[in-house]
Amino acid sequence: MLCYIGIGSNLGNRKKYIKNAIEKLRETKGVEVRRVSNIHETEPVGGPRQGRYLNGAIEVDTKLEPEELLARLQKIESELGRERSIKNAPRTIDLDILLYGDKEINEPYLKIPHPRMRDREFVMKPLKEIYEGI
Ligand code: AMP
Repeated sequence: MLCYIGIGSNLGNRKKYIKNAIEKLRETKGVEVRRVSNIHETEPVGGPRQGRYLNGAIEVDTKLEPEELLARLQKIESELGRERSIKNAPRTIDLDILLYGDKEINEPYLKIPHPRMRDREFVMKPLKEIYEGI
């Protein structure tokens, strides 16, 4: 299944966190990373005062079910030192499932397409780059 993942970081060595997260995705069985957008520096949206983000998007071809992919992304987040505190707090790494084929999921723990993606330039810009071949 073709799937799009949003990636972001605004704490510590942001470039390195993003690189490491993509590396971990590449090493994941059942996930083939196909394309990665440019990585953009963006202003934080919502949450407390915090530093700028680096954001991008990743196209993967995956055999994992959406719930399995979510679990894998959350494992990568915790391996890369992400601590869950308040909503929209700064984070070393954030991985979101944006699209999973044309599947729609509306569970409390998993909403696909990602609900706010269309309003977020920091999501749509890298996605467009992938669609349009950068
Ligand atoms: P965040 O703090 O932005 O990383 O949000 C994480 C929470 O959002 C987790 O508890 C997930 O279960 C939930 N969630 C809902 N939909 C999605 C999605 N499409 N991708 C990733 N996390 C999601």
